[in-house]
Amino acid sequence: MSFGIWAGREVITATLVPPPVQPTAFQRVYQVLRRRYRVRNWARGRNPFDVLVSIIISQNSTDLVTARVMTALRSRGAITPKSLLVMPPRTLVEILKPAGLARQKVPRIREIARRILRDYGGDLDRLKTLDTATARESLMRLPGVGPKTADVWLAMVARRDTMPVDTHIHRLARRWRLAPSENYEDVTEALKKLIPPRSRFRGHLILIEFGRDICHARNPACRECPIYRLCDAAERRPR
Ligand code: SF4
Repeated sequence: MSFGIWAGREVITATLVPPPVQPTAFQRVYQVLRRRYRVRNWARGRNPFDVLVSIIISQNSTDLVTARVMTALRSRGAITPKSLLVMPPRTLVEILKPAGLARQKVPRIREIARRILRDYGGDLDRLKTLDTATARESLMRLPGVGPKTADVWLAMVARRDTMPVDTHIHRLARRWRLAPSENYEDVTEALKKLIPPRSRFRGHLILIEFGRDICHARNPACRECPIYRLCDAAERRPR
């Protein structure tokens, strides 16, 4: 049987024995992935500024390299707006180099540190007192902070019901035709309709894990894909 998973469109089709209760195709996919991946909030216990800096460093980089750079940065002391502003920019560039784009990232991070000191007394926790839309706008006024960075910070630090869309989730949304376009806001809004508020931060992490683990950008591992029967992506390979 066929069933749609986005706004009534027929987007993922499957041939299945009818279950007692027929959930949407995406819910079936999501249930399989939720059972498969145990995810944890990597930002738990970290200071909000440290998390924001790590999200910016991670842009155009990998988790592994970002973690190494953050360890190198922390070896100089706690990451705070003040500590980064007193550190010579050249030293900061050297530390950030492995993550790429260090010469662009360092001025942005320093400007963010300056503004957080000026506007929030150095305490990014104050953003948590704002409603989600206002906090998101405030974050996005900072240099180098786009909707994805703001949504990740809000989901992981402030536990708001944003649905961050990274490169893996973007790819899955395109392959599964979840959204009417590839525009960030269209994709995040489409996913919000599919994943309930309390599950979104977990859903974000689960979909990233699946993209990294199986549904790669090049050569998706369809042979071992746990949702093979539910997928009709153009990239799906025959088994
Ligand atoms: S079958 Fe292939 S294309 Fe479809 S979700 Fe699985 S890995 Fe991705």
